Amino acid sequence: MGLTLKHEGRNKIGELMLIHLCSLCDKISINRLARDDLDHVVLEIFKLSGAMNSSLRKRCLEDDIYVLNDSNKEELHRQLFGSVN
Ligand SMILES: [Zn+2]
Repeated sequence: MGLTLKHEGRNKIGELMLIHLCSLCDKISINRLARDDLDHVVLEIFKLSGAMNSSLRKRCLEDDIYVLNDSNKEELHRQLFGSVN
């Protein structure tokens, strides 16, 4: 349902991670991206991430999960494609 960046300490940008909402128990968890996760799927999730509804966003915040938004586009592209362009 969204994307986040792993905590790597102050001022260091961590690895791109998936925010997962369990459809069975409604629990929010963080998962690593697999190497073969398709870039276009990740980009779709990035859109969901930016459009996440406020109640889910609040729950992420309470769990100390940063939700990626449009301002993180450059970092997203850097991690997916290895450059800002
Ligand atoms: Zn579950």
